[in-house]
Amino acid sequence: VTSFAGRSVALFGLGGSGLATARALMAGGAHVFAWDDAAPSREKAQAAGIALTDLSAADWSTFDCLVLAPGVPLTHPEPHWTVRAANDANIEIIGDLELFARERRVRPGIGGGAGNDCPFIAVTGTNGKSTTVSLITHLLKHAGRDVQLGGNIGTPVLALAPFVPGRTYVVECSSFQIDLAPGLAPDIGVLMNIAPDHLDRHGSMDNYVAIKTRLVAAGRNAVIGVDDAISAGIADQLDDGLGRVRRISATHAVEGGVYADGTVLYEVVKGEAVEVADLTGIDTLRGAHNAQNAAAAFAALRLLGLDADTIAAGLATFPGLPHRMEIVGRRGKVLFVNDSKATNADAAQRALGSFDRIYWIAGGRAKTDGIDNLTDWFPRIVHAYLIGEAAERFAATLGDAVPWTMSRTLEAALGDATRAASADTHGEPVVLLSPACASYDQYSSFEERGDAFRAAVAAIDSVVA
Ligand code: ADP
Repeated sequence: VTSFAGRSVALFGLGGSGLATARALMAGGAHVFAWDDAAPSREKAQAAGIALTDLSAADWSTFDCLVLAPGVPLTHPEPHWTVRAANDANIEIIGDLELFARERRVRPGIGGGAGNDCPFIAVTGTNGKSTTVSLITHLLKHAGRDVQLGGNIGTPVLALAPFVPGRTYVVECSSFQIDLAPGLAPDIGVLMNIAPDHLDRHGSMDNYVAIKTRLVAAGRNAVIGVDDAISAGIADQLDDGLGRVRRISATHAVEGGVYADGTVLYEVVKGEAVEVADLTGIDTLRGAHNAQNAAAAFAALRLLGLDADTIAAGLATFPGLPHRMEIVGRRGKVLFVNDSKATNADAAQRALGSFDRIYWIAGGRAKTDGIDNLTDWFPRIVHAYLIGEAAERFAATLGDAVPWTMSRTLEAALGDATRAASADTHGEPVVLLSPACASYDQYSSFEERGDAFRAAVAAIDSVVA
């Protein structure tokens, strides 16, 4: 990236995106002063050929900006020491997404410079981001487009392939990343939904909402999920009546946009609803939440000019994502589903709403909202198997409404659940890992937790014996 050519940049946070940022800045001629609080990250950076500078002992008046890794606290619970130093030196604080946005500004998107278009779709929301960006990417590839996927998923934005005419960028944005990207202006900003989560770092719900709003407010076009009251309010607030805002819903018809009635998608053009796709039988797009994801992808791609039939055909071949309602096995009539990515109650609710006879494995490190708002889904749960730190609290919430077992560990829970589900003579039993909790009490990540579940399911006969 060339926006800091010849200038000095303090870079703090040397994880994957930090390393990519250092490389991109250096390649663009910036002087990079890189540091991390954690010794292992520093060693990794050094091994990658990035020189280190102890920023705590540096003269900050010589820096032009601070580039911060997402997740380093700006204000909450208190500003990180580099944030204080940057503020004292009166220099701007930005993230890699801002550098990406600045670089792209010389390459306008749809409606911009002729023959030089690099359409940019940015997706945010509390849940469904990864599924939606992956689906959009899949559909673009299916349509024969040159596409790059990155950001909060997989490849850091500054490690994506360079801007060339016709290449489309699909970027997943966390609130942290948007917060550090004041110049972010995607061609299409997509806001899936807003549910209480991540309040620990953003301090308040108002701040969290304001950050998410900025992404869609800054976009040339906005696709907004209107199934929660907060996002619906944002859509109303931004609607200019000229079609800039496309609403999407999985629960009700919308004016101008895309909605799902059950598994059928309708596109509303000039007040008229036209059936455009049917998700029935697409295993990777099961459930109302995936109808919302499909509707968002559909609306975004229509704004990019793809025709409805091409998108509909592409939906049928979506491979899905690991750890998101991933079917990991079958044993007799028992289905095993890995939804380890459901780290909060809102996400777990989607999985609970997608099956009828559920043997539910839940628990881990609890989020603030617990599972109090899941009571409507309790009738679908035949039995719950509780693990991790949240087990007692979840047991108290389940009370007498749902039978539960203190399984403590994932493997024990799987054994308990499998024995019970195998003896179930009604309907289609599903052993569902959808923890409604973070994984950090017993695992290093939701991926590790999901992988452990998948491996245990593969070895199920020895677990059950
Ligand atoms: P994110 O990237 O926003 O964390 P994912 O697509 O990885 O979202 O999905 C995370 C979890 O949320 C999964 O467990 C999935 O079942 C659930 N989920 C997926 N899409 C939605 C949605 N549109 N609304 C609510 N929950 C969703």
